[in-house]
Amino acid sequence: MPTATRQQELEWAQSIIRPEEIEKYLDSSGRDFIDDERIIRQLADARNPDPQRVRAILDKSRAMQTLEPEETATLLQVEDPDLLEEMRCTGLDIKLRAYDNRIVTFAPLYMSNHCINSCTYCGFRRENEEMHRVRLSPKEIRAETRSLAGTFGHKRLIVVYGEHPLSDIDYLEESINTVYDVRVPTRKGHANIRRVNVNAAPLDVASLRRLKQVGLGTFQVFQETYHHDTYRRVHGRKSLKSDYAWRLYCMHRAQDAEVDDVGIGVLFGLYDWKFEVMGLVSHARELEKTWRGIGPHTISFPRLEVAHNAPGARGGRYAVSDEDFLKLITVLRLSVPYTGMICTARETASVRNEAVNRGITQMDASTRIGLGSYSTRYDDQEEERQQFMLGDARSVDELVRDLARMGYITSFCTAGYRIGRTGERIMRLLRSCHEGDFCKLNAILTFREWLDDFASPATKAMGEELIQRELAAARFRTPKLHQKFSDYYERTINGTRDLYL
Ligand code: SF4
Repeated sequence: MPTATRQQELEWAQSIIRPEEIEKYLDSSGRDFIDDERIIRQLADARNPDPQRVRAILDKSRAMQTLEPEETATLLQVEDPDLLEEMRCTGLDIKLRAYDNRIVTFAPLYMSNHCINSCTYCGFRRENEEMHRVRLSPKEIRAETRSLAGTFGHKRLIVVYGEHPLSDIDYLEESINTVYDVRVPTRKGHANIRRVNVNAAPLDVASLRRLKQVGLGTFQVFQETYHHDTYRRVHGRKSLKSDYAWRLYCMHRAQDAEVDDVGIGVLFGLYDWKFEVMGLVSHARELEKTWRGIGPHTISFPRLEVAHNAPGARGGRYAVSDEDFLKLITVLRLSVPYTGMICTARETASVRNEAVNRGITQMDASTRIGLGSYSTRYDDQEEERQQFMLGDARSVDELVRDLARMGYITSFCTAGYRIGRTGERIMRLLRSCHEGDFCKLNAILTFREWLDDFASPATKAMGEELIQRELAAARFRTPKLHQKFSDYYERTINGTRDLYL
């Protein structure tokens, strides 16, 4: 079992942050783009919004334009039930135009729970001596990947690491390469992981370039909280993570490194949820302004969950109710209309099903967050190995069936980054509502693969009905691509795998 001494940890921590990769992005007064007081003022000024103004803002969302912070503040302050329902319907309509009825599925794979930080809300925090520390070896990563790809049929992972010298950039590279190398036989073809997204600590430009070379999908870093004082309070003053600006500008560095597919997020429950939504929208706008209109490809909005031996994870004054949680999903959908939105298995099945009708686009399934738990256990949670506790234990098979019942097709598509549909290109397609032209067809192809290779009889029966409806609609929606798509579909039925447009 590899280890690092405290001295090695400290020396490593001192080598990570590069001040020149923060300062170049700050404004002329040396400030970052989150102005706490202005956000609080904007929220106060927006109280009791005029319905006419709200409807004008909804028109702007329908036109797929990112909202100004003042406009987001106005939506956040709506309390009238009828207006809230108009907002929900508009958000869902936007989602269906941009993403159609697809829900992309994925699984998290925790690679290492060693961490030098002390986030009060996290089970992995350094002081938690009851946490069983694990860094997966190549052999263990192969076993995990075989289960994820060969048992559940996943094609897309988000790999997760604590911040520690044992999970440095060398380990990130090695572990991702190991995942990509695994190939598993299935009923009719073979399965493998085709897209690895990364959720890790902020990296410098040189390290991000290395991840790009390995074949990174989306690079995800959550700010956790945009409120400066709260950030300091929950991350301590001396930890590596305590540098707010190093984290905030991580996505600027990603773009500098030509990693142009990025995901941002907040851990809701650390501070006032309306403030955090304003922070997310401000971040999206800042990225668009700085990087040729390229905003976040995804936004995540996990809520604080109980975590083992983590005092800051207990529900406090900023706990977000289900009602507010669903409202914030709607407001985010309306404020950043083009973005993908991820709702994870932290949430219960009923909340996630409702979130689908609010415009989310991605969900995980068959989720296990204990290290090594995909290949060693399938039926329970082990709090000494995981970061927090889960709310939705549905398998991929159950999720696919539930979504099909609701009229949604589960997509296992991973074509985007492999075919160069990232950055400006994906943003243009999403804003013009043309992304679905390709992605719906790829969703059908990958759904066909998954039904043939992995579905239970009940799910297959339900999936067949859905896929027949989708095939009939595809003929009219994308006539120019139809010949090629039909050819790919037939080949997929006959066992060819990983065909995409
Ligand atoms: S939230 Fe991340 S950085 Fe903080 S203790 Fe947990 S793993 Fe480490």
